[in-house]
Amino acid sequence: MKKIIAGFIMLVPSLLIFQIVAMAQKKPAINVADQLKQKAVSDIQLQYDVYKNMELSIWGFAELGYKEYKSSSLLQKTLTDNGFAVQAGAAEIPTAFVATYGSGKPVIAILAEFDALPGLSQDSVAEKISLGKNAGHGCGHHLFGVASVAAGIEIKQLIEQKKLTGTIKVFGTPAEEGGSGKVYMVRAGLFNDVDVVIHWHPGDNNGVTLTSALANTSAKFRFHGISAHASMSPEKGRSALDGIEAMDNMVNMMREHIPEDSRIHYVITNGGKAPNVVPDFAEVYYYVRNPKREIVKEVFDRVVKAAQGAAMGTETTVDYEIIGGTYDLLINRSLAAAMQKNLEQVGGIIYTPDEMVFAKKIQATLNKPPAPETAAVIEPLKTETDAGGGSTDVGDVSWNVPTVGMQAATWVPGTAAHSWQAVACGGTSIGAKGMMVAAKTMALTAIDLFTNPLLINKAKEEFLQSKESGFIYKPLLGDRKPALDYRD
Ligand SMILES: [Zn+2]
Repeated sequence: MKKIIAGFIMLVPSLLIFQIVAMAQKKPAINVADQLKQKAVSDIQLQYDVYKNMELSIWGFAELGYKEYKSSSLLQKTLTDNGFAVQAGAAEIPTAFVATYGSGKPVIAILAEFDALPGLSQDSVAEKISLGKNAGHGCGHHLFGVASVAAGIEIKQLIEQKKLTGTIKVFGTPAEEGGSGKVYMVRAGLFNDVDVVIHWHPGDNNGVTLTSALANTSAKFRFHGISAHASMSPEKGRSALDGIEAMDNMVNMMREHIPEDSRIHYVITNGGKAPNVVPDFAEVYYYVRNPKREIVKEVFDRVVKAAQGAAMGTETTVDYEIIGGTYDLLINRSLAAAMQKNLEQVGGIIYTPDEMVFAKKIQATLNKPPAPETAAVIEPLKTETDAGGGSTDVGDVSWNVPTVGMQAATWVPGTAAHSWQAVACGGTSIGAKGMMVAAKTMALTAIDLFTNPLLINKAKEEFLQSKESGFIYKPLLGDRKPALDYRD
């Protein structure tokens, strides 16, 4: 009995000492991360004018997918000037790059997009006025790229100052809009050594992404017929446009007999040149989407059958080229919870009186928008994950590396992506302020990952559990080379 009591008494002080030591070890660690976060927020804010000028330059370049030469080189130059080693022309894509600073683990990557959309030229004013160019930043990717570079540079400085250890990478990812740029970078193994990927997207509110994306396969179907005078010798012709119209009819009938959460859309990119010439060539560009990539594959195979049937019936021939293919987005809740805290710390956007005037003018062109003041609100973390309506090549990244993302209010609340209003907002200080929210939140989330290895472990555990057993990544676009001319 005495022995046991003695042992117990011995145990109590050692437990106390253990606790004190643990507290002593734990407390400064928390303070260090908090101090670094405060520093990161003020460092990034000090560069507001620099980053605003950069994003406005890229907004002005408004370059289409895989043709973003000026935009990509501006981001690359900024990273090189700041001490990053930049691998240009990554994955056989001239405008893709990987910028690296530091060494060893962890390896944290930030994605940077910069492509614009065709047909969306718009001035930075609250009425629909084109700048007469062939493209505009209707998805805010000019802000996307610069915010990610800003966050990367801040983390690089902290590594350089020996406040963090490990590697920071900024991935310059071209042609998100239909070009599936990131898929080739994943396929080339460029993410193999990365522990966690951080990304964001411009939006009309502030929140951490718990909405997935639709898996997507896109293809251009090319019909070949025989030219003839459409009136003098029509019997000698076989119309390639007939092939497309027959195909489209069949696909439109097919809509009734496919899983209803599917999406199919198309545009005829070449329907012939003149009514009095039977077209010997015509082209239609299709997208097939569904939350599940297995269903995308099934529906896409049936679209191919419709094309073949149409060719047979019109005595034309058809071939097709897969243009893009992206996975659904794998959500990581452990990382999302960490990012949420950082987004709440950074806070939303408060409009100046001038910005409020602009916001109200934009909102007058929108259907039932929420109050402009909601740009200051941080959405609470959603408990449910939904499929969403869009597709993104971040999907393929997220099935290879634990990935976390957010959106920031770069657009006046109620503004839809891919609209003239989005282009307009992206060219004003409202866009720049939203970009700063994203840059700061991503930097803070990276600080968490560099200072808390447990968070990375938890994210990796969740990542492995979320994937079906035996999952092997196979890109939906197969082994094709990057579709560098898909916007031609
Ligand atoms: Zn986008």
